[in-house]
Amino acid sequence: ATPTALLVGTGRGAQLAILIKGPQILESTRRVDTVVLDKTGTVTTGRMGVLGVHPADGESVEEVLALAGALEDASEHPIGRAVADHARAAGQHLAPVHDFAAHGGNGVSGVVEGRGVLAGRRSWLATEWALSMPADLLEAAERAEAEGRTPVWVAWDGQVRAVVVVADTIKDTSTQAITELRQLGLRPVLLTGDNTRAAQAVAHAVGIAPGDVVAEVLPADKVAAVRRLQDQGATVAMVGDGVNDAAALAQADLGLAMGTGTDAAIEASDLTLVTGDLRAAADAIRLARATLRTIK
Ligand code: ADP
Ligand code: MG
Repeated sequence: ATPTALLVGTGRGAQLAILIKGPQILESTRRVDTVVLDKTGTVTTGRMGVLGVHPADGESVEEVLALAGALEDASEHPIGRAVADHARAAGQHLAPVHDFAAHGGNGVSGVVEGRGVLAGRRSWLATEWALSMPADLLEAAERAEAEGRTPVWVAWDGQVRAVVVVADTIKDTSTQAITELRQLGLRPVLLTGDNTRAAQAVAHAVGIAPGDVVAEVLPADKVAAVRRLQDQGATVAMVGDGVNDAAALAQADLGLAMGTGTDAAIEASDLTLVTGDLRAAADAIRLARATLRTIK
């Protein structure tokens, strides 16, 4: 079916466009009591930048950027784009990558100039690749996480060589949106593949309770997280933007996609928030309640 466009007057002057797949969706919208929010690209802009490069003892920033930049240039993840762009801006010519692989929600691997290079999360390098983290890098990574940032661990030839710190920014409408969701009596929950500290920092900034943060969730486990809330009796709306959110968006009682997100997320959802403004999620729920009150 062709989605219908709704223009919601919000009383704040602006009108936020919402696409709805059909009028029957208003009924599930009205019953929602829990709103699960993806972090990257939903609560935050998803436009990542590199904030720092920390080489291990004996390594140079240049070599880290050359190898990590070349590897990440083959990645479609916002982290990959940030690292590759940063390396290029720093004057690196990025060599081609062979045997590239993206390990959903964990990191990437490939061969650059004859070296096996990895970039990804700490637990993945530690468990899948049996690598240990140098103490000085652990300190830099923990400091970054405490500030809501994401450390990307870089290894080659069987050794961890650097941490590249990446971050995006919280959308300036997210805090207001979450306040509005609360005022509607809804419980906001943050769901992310990112590290726990970064997730808690973002949650704290936007007003989500520490106990309502579910972090370090692999893409396949996002669905299970939604199902668990449903099993506990919640009627769940899920808001997301990524390919890795699509299954969870379909599982939720109501799926809301960011119009700025991927086609996979939009196709899996009941509603699309056209401009990617999270306040439109609150508007949709308010509208559904008001509309059904009028009909009854
Ligand atoms: P989110 O749920 O916040 O959208 P993802 O599932 O996309 O996060 O990614 C989870 C984590 O996996 C990232 O925070 C990062 O640590 C790691 N990761 C994913 N892709 C890459 C990449 N291309 N390079 C480095 N790390 C990556
Ligand atoms: Mg996302």
